[in-house]
Amino acid sequence: MEIFNRLPREVRVLVNTFSVEHRPNLEKVHVDLFHKFGMDELLYDNSWTYCANDMCEREILKDESVMSTIMDYEHHFCNDECESYGSWSIWYDYRKYGRTQGNQGSIINHPFPL
Ligand SMILES: [Zn+2]
Repeated sequence: MEIFNRLPREVRVLVNTFSVEHRPNLEKVHVDLFHKFGMDELLYDNSWTYCANDMCEREILKDESVMSTIMDYEHHFCNDECESYGSWSIWYDYRKYGRTQGNQGSIINHPFPL
């Protein structure tokens, strides 16, 4: 904080305009503006996502998707077939990343053999 106080006043004011605490209020302003100007479709809808199968990537509803947790991250898929290939592909990427890091894939206890 001492370093921050040494900055010129104009810079401190500018930095404070980016306060994380302002974001919820700014979101309310954006929602009001989008409603006022009839641009509701631009609002982000958290119920939609894209199929995590990189060969599909169809837009899907999270509530109707097949969900799989891989390496503590939730992945949503269209159906069981997309989940099967998509999960294999995600694990493949993790294994490949592990090999490039020199640990031969030991970062994970994956269900698919090499
Ligand atoms: Zn899919």
